[in-house]
Formats: sequence, C-alpha cells, structure tokens
Amino acid sequence: MRRAGSLAPMPLATLRQVLDEAARGGYGVGAFNVNNMEQLQGIVDAAVETNSPVIVQASRGAIAYAGPNYLRHLIIAASESAPRIPLVLHLDHGDKPETCLMAIELGFTSVMMDGSLLADGKTPSDYEYNVAVTREVVEAAHAKGVSVEGELGTLGGIEDGHGSGEVHLTDPDQAVEFVERTGIDALAVAIGTSHGAYKFTKPPDGEVLAMNLIEEIHQRLPETHLVMHGSSSVPKELVDEINRYGGEIAPTWGVPVEEIQLGIRHGVRKINVDTDARLAMTGAIRKVFAGDKGEFDPRKYLAPARDAMKAVYVERMTQFGQAGHAGDYEPLTLDEMRERY
Ligand SMILES: [Zn+2]
Repeated sequence: MRRAGSLAPMPLATLRQVLDEAARGGYGVGAFNVNNMEQLQGIVDAAVETNSPVIVQASRGAIAYAGPNYLRHLIIAASESAPRIPLVLHLDHGDKPETCLMAIELGFTSVMMDGSLLADGKTPSDYEYNVAVTREVVEAAHAKGVSVEGELGTLGGIEDGHGSGEVHLTDPDQAVEFVERTGIDALAVAIGTSHGAYKFTKPPDGEVLAMNLIEEIHQRLPETHLVMHGSSSVPKELVDEINRYGGEIAPTWGVPVEEIQLGIRHGVRKINVDTDARLAMTGAIRKVFAGDKGEFDPRKYLAPARDAMKAVYVERMTQFGQAGHAGDYEPLTLDEMRERY
C-alpha cells in the first residue's frame, strides 16, 4: 500500500532492479528528464497507457529550477497517481559525491556520479579521479540500497553548462577495470553521441556512431547495464513544427531509433532522452500562439504541450520495448536492495 501523505520513504523502484528486469526481458528503458509538472505528467500518462516501467531523471539544473521540495513532491504525486508503474527517480550527471549524497537524502533511488569530468562539469578528469569519486558514491549509495551509474569517456555537446565539448570514446579495457574497481550498476558509454539538439550535421553512420564499441563492451561486461546518453532522435517533423510556427532551428540530426534498438540488442538498457520532448513541447506551444495571438491562458498552451510530449514518450516506450512490462514485477524496497549488495 502506498502511504498517501507520508513524506518518506518514497515507494519508488531502483535502477538496478528495473534494468535487471529489462536485461531479463531483452528490452531497453527510456530515462526521461523532468523539470516541471507537465513533463512528468506526460511521462506518467505515457507509462500508464503503455504499461511501462520508466526512469524519471533530474539534473542539477532541473533540481535548481523546480526546487528540491517541489521535485520530490511531484514524484510522490506521480507514484501515487500510477501505483502500478515501477518508477525510478534518478539523478542525472551528479557532478561530485556531495551532490549524489544530497539526492539520496532527498529520496532518489538512483544517482549518476559523472566522474568523467571534474566538479566544474567541464574539464575532463583523469581516470584515477573518476574511479575514486565513483567508488566513494557506490559505497554510500549501496549501503542504502540506492543504485549508481558511472561514466567513462566523454560525450560531445554542452547542455545546461554541462560537458567538455570534447568527445573521448570509451575504451573497452578500461571499462572492464572501471566496473571492477567501482562496483557500479550501470555504465554510461561514450560512442560518439552528444547532448542537446545539435548532435550531427548529417545522418549519422558507422563512422560517427561507434555501435561496435557497445557490442565489445557488452561482451566483456555482460552483467553491467549500458547507458546511452544524448539519445534523442531529433525527428525532422518536430523541428519542422517549430520552424513552421516562427522558430529557427537549424537542420540537425539525432540518433536514429534503429541504432538505439541495435544497442538494446547488445546490452543497452537505459536510454536518455530529453531533447525530443523539449522540441515537442516548444512546437505545440508555438502552434497555439501562432493560431491565436490573443491567447493568454497558460492551460490552453501547456495542455497541448503535455499531449505532444506524451506522444513522444509513448513512441519511445514502444520502440525501446519497455511497453507491456510494468506488471512483470513488484518494486523492491531500498532495504531489500541493500541486502543484495
Ligand atoms: Zn547525459
């Protein structure tokens, strides 16, 4: 039973359990970023409609934007509204151990310690620094049953001030050692993707997207769940919709869904998608404003924005294969997860 009105602990699933189940079922799980109510409602409505387990993630920027208490209570509201959906609350790109510990205190069931960059979120770190900070977070998190994602290699692109702008692909030998030394549950790999909307200047092929790296890392680390960051597909119709109603988004290409599906066949279990929902939201709002320049009731443009985001989430949940799997298992409590470590 959910304890309505109770502040702690939140009855949320952990990343480890949700991805273990995904590995067993051979599917991937979308990790969608949230910073406001409409986004979260779009995600939860999509999960209910498709009967999907789902990962909701918040970056430091999102926590600062919404405020930690608002975010926490929005998630409680989401899990109470959708009690049959395994819902993970994950910290995206924790910049230092203190940030991860704060998220755990707030009730996050999973954290990412991104030690691939220094605490400034910009400068690529050295490998030993990455091992040390990630190991520190794993020890603290696992003692509470909370899951941890680490990152090796760096992605291109800069978003919310995060990123070095340099691409360093993940080295498979180093990945094996990194997982052994840190004990992480999930590993974000750099295979040539970028954060943000401007990922590629032409449709990506095998030259820019190193899918073979995923295969190799998965073969050597079959128990570690792989994570693809920067995996929005940037559909042309979403960009066109924005531009049709006065926007000026330059031509750009994202990660084709077929490439993600190929990754899922080779151990990718968590797929981070943020940009696609942002594009859908912006296009829907622009369309309302273009159609009725006298409109000023926020519900008249936020409701279509929520619907447009939900459509993206439904499509991705179906394409990643998580649809239909919400009822396969009951979320374990953090105490139960702690005993497994
Ligand atoms: Zn990322």
